[in-house]
Amino acid sequence: MNTVKAYIDLQALRFNIEKIKDTLPKCKIVSVIKADAYGHGSVACAKALDDLVECFAVARIEEAIELREAGVSKNIILLGGFFLEDELPLVEKYDLSFAIHDVWQIEILEKYQASKKIKGWCQINIGMQRLGFNVDQVKDVYKRISNIQCIQNPIGLIAHLSCADEESTKSFNELQLSAWNSVKDISEGPLCLLNSAAIEYYSEYSTDFIRPGIIQYGVSPSSNKTGIELGLKPVMTLCSKVISIRNVDVGDAVGYGAYWICDKKTRIAIVAAGYADGYPRSMPNGCPVLINGQVMHTVGHVCMDMMFVDIGLDSEVNINDEVVLWGKGLPVEHIAQRVGTIPYELLTRVTKRVKYIYN
Ligand SMILES: *Cc1c(COP(=O)(O)O)cnc(C)c1O
Repeated sequence: MNTVKAYIDLQALRFNIEKIKDTLPKCKIVSVIKADAYGHGSVACAKALDDLVECFAVARIEEAIELREAGVSKNIILLGGFFLEDELPLVEKYDLSFAIHDVWQIEILEKYQASKKIKGWCQINIGMQRLGFNVDQVKDVYKRISNIQCIQNPIGLIAHLSCADEESTKSFNELQLSAWNSVKDISEGPLCLLNSAAIEYYSEYSTDFIRPGIIQYGVSPSSNKTGIELGLKPVMTLCSKVISIRNVDVGDAVGYGAYWICDKKTRIAIVAAGYADGYPRSMPNGCPVLINGQVMHTVGHVCMDMMFVDIGLDSEVNINDEVVLWGKGLPVEHIAQRVGTIPYELLTRVTKRVKYIYN
């Protein structure tokens, strides 16, 4: 039996997109559903959002093909472009578009004999030093791409901000935004800049297209706020259940490596969720979970299939009671912070053993 369930609230997903649309009504939404929609299930999410967004974006061609084979017909952008020449026939077959970010891609495209025009975006590096042409190259590169036979004109410009979420890195944002401003007018096609953090904090830089990722799922892009505080609704609630309850005494060592030693008489609930479901093993003692709406805390190392919760001597906890690991009532942002990571990582690491329930 799948004891761990990921409840995916598709109404909340739609609510979050509607909220973005209310904030920036003129912008077209590129819904970022890479990595299986940040662990929420890309096909279900794409179908739920189909009438609300302009198009979708993923990281790898396999992710796009999965969507097409499931009947998703909206445009799909490959954010990292193509990685191999062999992918180009698939780009044509599945009617995909991509970002062009490197000269080696241009060289391949210049020689490629396409059967139809492909939609491309010219990607600019405005300071993150990841993908894209440097600002001083953009003018020449843009012209060169516009002259490629298989590429449909006009091509758009796409760029990515690296620090839009951190107060302390505001000066980097300013530099990156001024780099963007210095090149964006080259484009004869659409512009696409803002990710989630920039939508929240730099909406005045809104462009024709915006690329929300994490905020669609009701989760905050920055560590100092939760999605709820931004007016969003969490989409995923990850739950398991209690499968055993035991009494422990002072000095009892709980779990592998005796990571938690009991300093009082208490009761421990054994919860059937572990790191093989995506709950991080590196979680220290004392992470909150919700049982019957009450906050209780984990103890001991998380095992592969189970974990321990200190339920105290007096609580009303029974076998089969549901345990919320994150989601409604327990922001994933707080859980991520406990373990020293970001919610993106926890959400995308939910494993295929978990049962998904869409409602
Ligand atoms: C992942 C990604 C996004 C979405 O980022 P969020 O922080 O989740 O909004 C947008 N653009 C690019 C290029 C990305 O790789």
